[in-house]
Amino acid sequence: MQGTVTKSMGLWYLVEGADGESYNCRLKGKFKLENKKISNPVAVGDKVTLLEDEGNAEAWIISEILPRENYIIRTSPKKKGHGHIIASNIDLAIVIATVANPRTSLGFIDRFLVTAEAFRIPAMILCNKIDLLSAEELAGLKEKMKEYEVLGYQTGFISALNPKDIAALKEILHNQTTLISGHSGVGKSTVVNQLIPEAEQKTSEISDFSEKGTHTTTFAERFKVAENSYIIDTPGIKELGLAEIEKDELSHYFPELRQLLGQCKFNNCTHTHEPGCAIAAAYEAGEISQSRYDSYLSMLMGDDNRR
Ligand code: GDP
Ligand code: ZN
Repeated sequence: MQGTVTKSMGLWYLVEGADGESYNCRLKGKFKLENKKISNPVAVGDKVTLLEDEGNAEAWIISEILPRENYIIRTSPKKKGHGHIIASNIDLAIVIATVANPRTSLGFIDRFLVTAEAFRIPAMILCNKIDLLSAEELAGLKEKMKEYEVLGYQTGFISALNPKDIAALKEILHNQTTLISGHSGVGKSTVVNQLIPEAEQKTSEISDFSEKGTHTTTFAERFKVAENSYIIDTPGIKELGLAEIEKDELSHYFPELRQLLGQCKFNNCTHTHEPGCAIAAAYEAGEISQSRYDSYLSMLMGDDNRR
C-alpha cells in the first residue's frame, strides 16, 4: 500500500494510507541513509510504500520512499553541511507576516522567500491581523505587497479572527500541501486552529528527538484541512533559515536579480561595487526596490541572523 508520512516520532512514523486510515509504521531493519549528511531517512510529506509487519499485526513497515519533489532541510548548528529533513513534497510555503504586534521585517520575509526559492517551493506572503490596521495602513501594505506579486509571489490579507477570511484561505489551500511558518506572535497557531480545530494545542507542543546526543531537532506534522488539502505545521521552527546558500548563488534566488544575471561586466560580479554591474544599474534606475537590494546585501554579508 502507498501512503504519506504525517508525523515522525523518533523511530515510529504515522502514515496516512491510500485508504485514508492512519497507520503506525517503522522502517525496515536495514534502511540505509542515502545521504550521510542527512540524519533522518523519512520525513513528513514523504510518499512511502508500506508492507505488513509479519511480527506485529498492529504495525506496518515502510519499505520504500518515493522520490521527493522537494524538501526543506534544517541545517545542524554544530556540523556544517549536515542537517535533517523537516518536510517534503510541499506545493506552497506560506509566511505569515504582520505589520504590528509584532512587526515582521521585510528582511525576514525576503530571507523566507530566498529559502523557498532555494528549495524550489512556490511561496506566498500572508498578511495577518489586518483588523488592527487603519484603511490607510492597509492600503500602504497592499502597495508594498504589489512589489512581491510582480516578482511572482502570491500575497494575501486576512484577519485570523474573521471566519470569511479563513474560508478564503481554505480556497487557496485547496488541492495542495502547504507549509505554514512565521515569527511567534503573528497568529500562526490561531490560523492553524481555525483551519483544523483538532490541531488545537498540538501546535504549541514541541516534539524533541535527541539524535546521538549531539543536537535536538524538531519535527513537523501534517494536518488535513479538507479532502486533498493539507497543511504542514512546524512547531518550534520560526523560520526556514538560509539553507547554507553559497554567496555566489544568492542572486539566483532573487527573481529580479536572476533575470539580469549574465549582463554584468564581470561574471564573478557580487553586485556590490563592481563597474559595469547590471544589477547596480537597475537599482540606480529604481527597477529594484531599496528593501530588496538591502536584503540581498544583508544576506550576502551574513549579518542577517539577528533580525
Ligand atoms: P503564534 O505565536 O504565531 O502562534 O501566534 P498566536 O496564534 O498565538 O497569536 C498571538 C496573538 O495574536 C493571540 O493573542 C491571538 O489572539 C492574536 N491574533 C491572532 N490573529 C489575529 C488577528 O487576525 N487579529 C488580531 N487582532 N489578533 C490576532
Ligand atoms: Zn553585478
